[in-house]
Amino acid sequence: MMPVSRERSLVTGANGQDGTYLVEALLATGDDVYAMCHSADGAERLRSLHPTVTATVGDLADEGAIHALIDSTQPTRVFNLAGNTSVARSWEYPAATADVLGVGPIRIYDALWKLSQRTGIKPRMLQASSAEIFGNAAQVPQTESTPRRPVTPYGAAKGFAHDMAGVYRARGMHVSTAILYNHESPRRPETFVARKITMAVARIALGMQETITLGNIDAFRDWGYAPDYVQAMMLIISREEPGDFIVATGESHSVREFLAEAFECAGVTDWHSRVIIDPGLYRPVDPLQLVGDPALLRSIGWQPQVGFTELVRIMVLADLELLRAPVAG
Ligand code: GDP
Repeated sequence: MMPVSRERSLVTGANGQDGTYLVEALLATGDDVYAMCHSADGAERLRSLHPTVTATVGDLADEGAIHALIDSTQPTRVFNLAGNTSVARSWEYPAATADVLGVGPIRIYDALWKLSQRTGIKPRMLQASSAEIFGNAAQVPQTESTPRRPVTPYGAAKGFAHDMAGVYRARGMHVSTAILYNHESPRRPETFVARKITMAVARIALGMQETITLGNIDAFRDWGYAPDYVQAMMLIISREEPGDFIVATGESHSVREFLAEAFECAGVTDWHSRVIIDPGLYRPVDPLQLVGDPALLRSIGWQPQVGFTELVRIMVLADLELLRAPVAG
């Protein structure tokens, strides 16, 4: 039997929500996994969870480090998930956001291009693009060809990296984008509204907290389950033809609906008085109708396993369990 050559998969942002699910999925398929984390703590955590992963510390803003990492690992596949994840906070650091989320991926495309020129390796790349590139979209739901109108530094930066993926694809590189809509899980930080809600609701249900304070609960989002989105990334990169793919559920729900569903899951009925609206948490600019049409992705075989109600349930139950668990040590 011919030996099957294993993929050498490099994941940037490996310690984040998606990164951890992706590393697990790649290890399960037998890949050699290399991970770039932003902090030493993150790399250490990953190594202790997965001793076979080669984890390093790196920053997309550091051109030399990115080239050195690509040259030393010689990956056959790169999944770029690195960068600041908070859309709201991209207003605090617009230039750094442009550098890391906009130019950072180009440092990878360039390093991969040069690697392939030098060695003949034909690496594939998956760029984590974002629904934020559509911003105030003229079209609902959005498709791969919807015109882009970003309204945040985050969306504009992701849009540039998205365009450059197309530029390198036209040059002959295997670069695809996953245009990711909001996706959540028990691993999501509380800076995102979904996890903020499920943690607070779990605390309220257990009598550990009285109220939750939120911003605009009439914003709508298309919320999916992070492990389903990681499966989409693996499917997209495995395609013979690279391309752009919307990764979304196609369903739009308001923050208000998420909240109601979460309280119901936790068995709290008298919850309206528990919610405080703070106009200070409203965003100056906020895309209100981001919903994606995943028809193209479904046509190549993507089948998400978890819908909206089940997503909320998974997150609330996980947080109840987390809070009930005895503190270690
Ligand atoms: P984003 O879509 O990547 O910005 O994800 P978020 O989970 O941070 O925000 C989703 C939506 O929830 C946005 O429209 C926010 O304006 C809205 N939202 C309402 N209250 C809150 C809150 O307390 N925290 C956050 N993060 N978002 C909130």
